[in-house]
Amino acid sequence: MEYPVCSKVASLTPSVTLAISAKAKELKSQGLDVIGFGAGEPDFDTPKHIKDAAVTALNNGFTKYTPSSGTPELKQAIIRKFQRDQGLDYDPKQIIVSCGGKHSCFNVIFSVCNPGDEVIIPSPYWLSYPEMAVLADAKPVIIPASDGNGFKVTPDQLKAAITDKTRIFILNSPGNPTGAVYTPEEIRALADICLEKNVLIMSDDIYEKLLYDGVSHTCPAAFSPEHKAITIIVHGLAKAYSMTGWRIGFAAAPLPIARAMDALQSHSTSNPTSFAQSGAVAALDGPQDHLDGWMAEFDKRRLRALELLNNMKGISCFRSQGAFYLFPKISDTGMKSQEFCEKLLEKARVAAVPGAAFGSDDHIRISYATSLANIEKGLERMADFVSSLT
Ligand SMILES: *Cc1c(COP(=O)(O)O)cnc(C)c1O
Repeated sequence: MEYPVCSKVASLTPSVTLAISAKAKELKSQGLDVIGFGAGEPDFDTPKHIKDAAVTALNNGFTKYTPSSGTPELKQAIIRKFQRDQGLDYDPKQIIVSCGGKHSCFNVIFSVCNPGDEVIIPSPYWLSYPEMAVLADAKPVIIPASDGNGFKVTPDQLKAAITDKTRIFILNSPGNPTGAVYTPEEIRALADICLEKNVLIMSDDIYEKLLYDGVSHTCPAAFSPEHKAITIIVHGLAKAYSMTGWRIGFAAAPLPIARAMDALQSHSTSNPTSFAQSGAVAALDGPQDHLDGWMAEFDKRRLRALELLNNMKGISCFRSQGAFYLFPKISDTGMKSQEFCEKLLEKARVAAVPGAAFGSDDHIRISYATSLANIEKGLERMADFVSSLT
């Protein structure tokens, strides 16, 4: 039979990272040592007190449905987090706990957009944003940021992109894949335009705690009650607590949007895993000092990788100040990102993600969520590879 496939789903761009990771796996299975810079998750273990809390919950029989939008305990822990870190007060009804930060983004876009509505997405972008907009029958409107401008879009770019169909501006600072961090002034300028034009801001704050060089994180909701009223914060436990597999994310939204997200979730996934929510309470309420060690280690790797990359012929790398990614420019080698990554894997046995996946074909993404020894070995091989090109 001819199987029916939804045309919207069929039109999704197959992940360009898949070809690379399939090839990396194949080479590994042949016994070749491949160095992987593709990781989108910290290489540290989840802190023990968080695991213990989940195990205790499991052993105590906390294994049934919870309220669809999350347990009251976790919502309170999330409310305390926003009070502590942003000075923001939320009502439990405004907090929606979902199955990961990605799921929170999905719920936001699907709860806000009608067919034909526009979602403004700065590029390079996290690859799921445009696909989510397309699935929601909305139109992704991409505004490009270059490394010359620190991978940040300007107020003029945002202003020029807004139409009467614009519903959401997506802000992701620190950002994936560039690690760029907007200053408070830059975010204020963008947020003021959204306020003036009645555009919602979806602020993806998942990398809030992963900062270097003494820079700080800014959440647009914290500027004023008016800014808070147009901001939906999307967040999660995955990155700062190394809990990617737990699937717990959350959003804080104006009440009507939170209600819509709650309804959507109640008919799709229902609640995120009960005992994972118990672990999330321990993560948010417990000691945060694991981050000191992690960030010191990440920073060492970041600086070393930056040094090695910027010493390579034809490669230049922007000094990212957040997350755990670097986004070096490779186009001066004469190649585009997909070809560069394919050859890098084939000839140097180093796996990196083509920037084309994130909207920039002139760059590649290097994750430093791997050991310093791997970084040195992998980037030495990459240096040999690029100098062999001329
Ligand atoms: C990792 C990530 C998320 C959330 O990931 P989950 O595993 O779904 O919690 C959200 N946004 C960005 C930009 C990310 O890199």
